[in-house]
Amino acid sequence: MAGLAETSTDILIIGGGLAGVATARHLARAGAGVIVVERGDIGGAASGANAGSLHLQIPHAEFLSLGEGWARAFAPVLPLMRESVAMWARLPGEIGADLGVALTGGILVARSPAQMQAVARKAAIERQAGLEVHLLDRAELAGLAPYVAPGMIGGAFCPGEGRADPLVATRALAAAARRDGARILTGVELVSLAADGAGYLARCRGRQIRARRVVNAAGADAGRIAAMVGVRLPIEGHPLQVTVTEPLAPLIGHLLYSAAGKLTLKQGGNGRCLIGGGWPSRLRPDGRLAVNPASLLANMATAVEAVPALGAVRALRTWPAVVNGTPDWRPLIGEVPGRPGFFLALFPWMGFTAGPITGLLTAELVLGRRPAIDLSRISALA
Ligand SMILES: Cc1cc2nc3c(=O)[nH]c(=O)nc-3n(C[C@H](O)[C@H](O)[C@H](O)COP(=O)(O)OP(=O)(O)OC[C@H]3O[C@@H](n4cnc5c(N)ncnc54)[C@H](O)[C@@H]3O)c2cc1C
Repeated sequence: MAGLAETSTDILIIGGGLAGVATARHLARAGAGVIVVERGDIGGAASGANAGSLHLQIPHAEFLSLGEGWARAFAPVLPLMRESVAMWARLPGEIGADLGVALTGGILVARSPAQMQAVARKAAIERQAGLEVHLLDRAELAGLAPYVAPGMIGGAFCPGEGRADPLVATRALAAAARRDGARILTGVELVSLAADGAGYLARCRGRQIRARRVVNAAGADAGRIAAMVGVRLPIEGHPLQVTVTEPLAPLIGHLLYSAAGKLTLKQGGNGRCLIGGGWPSRLRPDGRLAVNPASLLANMATAVEAVPALGAVRALRTWPAVVNGTPDWRPLIGEVPGRPGFFLALFPWMGFTAGPITGLLTAELVLGRRPAIDLSRISALA
C-alpha cells in the first residue's frame, strides 16, 4: 500500500499485555528480531487492571458451577500455573524491579459442613495434580488466620499462592524486554493481517509490518485477530470489576477465597486491600464499561462475611476491565494447525498468574524448541 512506512521483522507480537511482553522478552533474549504492537499503553488492558492474585488452585465457584468432570480436565493446567508462580518469584531479581511479589499462601474458607465437603473434594483433585493443599479445621483456621470470621468453620490452605502488583509488573517486564532488544510500539493498532509469501503482512494505522511469524497475544481481542487469518477461537471478553480499599494496618496475611461466594481478597504492601473474585461489571450500550453496583454490594458482603473487620473500612474505588475467557478455561498456546507461523499466547481467566510461563512456552515454540512443559494435556491447541 503506497504511503505507509514499512518495517520487517522476524516475529511480530500483537498485544502489549503480560503475555505479549513476556513472550517478547524471551524471544529477544534468544537473539530473535521481535516487534510488539500495542494499540494502547503497555498493560493498559486486563494485565494492568486485574486483582493481582497469583493462583495455584482450581477456582471454587467454577468447581461448583462447571462440576468435578471439568475440574479433573482442568487439573493438568495446575503444574503450569505452579511453574509460573515460581517464575514470578524469580522475576524481580532477574529484571531488577520490585513487582510486589509476595507468596503468602492462599486460604479458601467455608461456612458450613456442606461447603467444607466441597472444599475437600476439590482439594483431593488438586493433590492428585501435585498441588500442596492442607485442609483446616476451625482451630487450625483461627490459628493461621485470626482475622477470619468465627463463623467460618474451616477451609483449605495452599501455601504457594500469593500476589504481585499489576500496576507495575507488565511495564517493568516491557522495560526489560526493551533492554534485551525487543521493539515495543505503543499506540499502534493492528487493523488487518494476511498470509503473505513465507510470512505475514500486518497493516497497522500508519505503517505496515512484514513478519516471518506472528504471535497473537491480544487477550480478549484475540478472536478478532485470529479471524483475520480465518481462524476461529473460543475466546471472548467478559467484563469484570475489582475494588480497592483505603489503607489499613496489616491484617490480612493471605490470599483469601470463600466457598460461600465469589471472593478474592488480599492486602498489599501499601496496606490497601484488593477485593474481587470474578464479579461482572457492565457493558453499556455505547460499548464502554461501567461498574455494576449489584456486583459491588455482593462482593463487599462476601468480603465482610469472611473478614468482619473490613466492615469498618472504606472502599475507595471500583474499576471495570475485560478478562479473556474461554468456556473450558484451558490455555491456547502454540502454533495454530494449518496456519504455519501463526502462534497463540493466550491464557484465559487467570492470565496474570500464568503470564510468565505463557511467555516462556510461546517463545520456545516460536523458536522451534521443545517446550519446558509438555503441553499435550494442557493447551486446547495441542
Ligand atoms: C477485573 C479483572 C481481574 C482479574 N484478576 C486476576 C487475578 O487476580 N489473577 C490472575 O491471574 N488473573 C486475573 N485476571 C485475568 C488476567 O488479568 C488476564 O487473563 C491477563 O492479564 C491476560 O493477559 P494478556 O496479555 O493475554 O491480555 P491483555 O492484558 O488484555 O493484553 C492484550 C493487549 O492486546 C492489545 N490489543 C488488542 N487488540 C489489538 C490490536 N488490534 N492491535 C494492537 N494491540 C491490540 C490490547 O490493547 C491489550 O493491551 C483478571 C482480569 C480482570 C479483567
